[in-house]
Amino acid sequence: MNLTTERLINELQTFGARLRDPKAGVESRRGGAGPSDHKAIIVDGVTFMAPVHTAPAFDSPYEIGKPDEAGVSPIFRDGVALGQARFPARPRFYDLHTHDGVPFSQIATLHGRDVLATTVLQTCIRYQSRTKTCQFCAIGQSLAAGRTIAHKTPRQLAEVAKAAVELDGVKHMVMTTGTPRGGDRGASVLCESAQAIKNAVYLPIQAQCEPPDDDAWFERLRASGVDTLGMHLEIVTPALRAKLMPGKSEVPISRYMSAFAAAVPVFGRGQVSTYILAGLGDTSEAILDISSQLVEIGVYPFVVPFVPISGTPLESHPTPSADFMHGVLKPLSEMIVAAGLRASDIKAGCGRCGACSALSTYERRLG
Ligand code: SF4
Repeated sequence: MNLTTERLINELQTFGARLRDPKAGVESRRGGAGPSDHKAIIVDGVTFMAPVHTAPAFDSPYEIGKPDEAGVSPIFRDGVALGQARFPARPRFYDLHTHDGVPFSQIATLHGRDVLATTVLQTCIRYQSRTKTCQFCAIGQSLAAGRTIAHKTPRQLAEVAKAAVELDGVKHMVMTTGTPRGGDRGASVLCESAQAIKNAVYLPIQAQCEPPDDDAWFERLRASGVDTLGMHLEIVTPALRAKLMPGKSEVPISRYMSAFAAAVPVFGRGQVSTYILAGLGDTSEAILDISSQLVEIGVYPFVVPFVPISGTPLESHPTPSADFMHGVLKPLSEMIVAAGLRASDIKAGCGRCGACSALSTYERRLG
């Protein structure tokens, strides 16, 4: 079997993989915001996150063998070897503690190859009851399990960021947050965090939050040292948003669109992005339609395959097929490149990292 790199990444991200040596690579995170139950894997020089602890991963046709002495693992599909994988090394900053004794790994983690990622507030007004929570989110799980702390202070974040740059060559940072009470929707805490980090070390930062109620927050975020902004639609069909994100969908798509239009002039074309989870019921036409509106105003639509997280209401929801992802990512990459927005031009964040989707691999193919 001879699969293109895009296809292989699509299949590993949608099926997941069983690992013959579960300890290979950097320990995977369970629960929390962002990719969970995943592990970073490198194939053909491309680093991506693939699920290894989810229900579909246990039934995946893919299996990754134990690394040999050179750190190379064979990839098997239905028992047939079809490629090789590597795993990024465990970051050195994981061995350190903050001034107040918190392990650095509870403050921020390595994502992909060179991204430092943190959830500044590990609590969320949307997560207080299962009738309000986003059905795919596990933000409270890692907190309940004691693997992280509820509020990472600016000083703690600055300490970890400096060490991650100096010891592990981290190149950019993603700061997301649960949504607190108040109209700023987390922008204020992201501002103070970014400022402390930028005072300690040079590191491009993406902040991620819901659209604040006042567009003046975009200037404040930029002035605090935030380089790029993510405001995540997650799902694009209003009825599905109401069903799967009953709390978050109270902020309508129209507000996201007006916030994007206000944020792009502040951060620049392509430096504002949105995360869209493919596989939760949006049709490929719906995803591509809103993506063309986003691209038009200079927003990078980062479309990723939905991967269920254990312990969430959607833990048994199927992942999208590799064919569905191909049908979205191929035209989407053409649309993005034609508009002059590319992952490689993004200063920081998920779009630049690209590890949760094969999108940037499709873009590179277009030259
Ligand atoms: S794309 Fe974003 S969420 Fe995914 S690994 Fe990279 S930084 Fe983390």
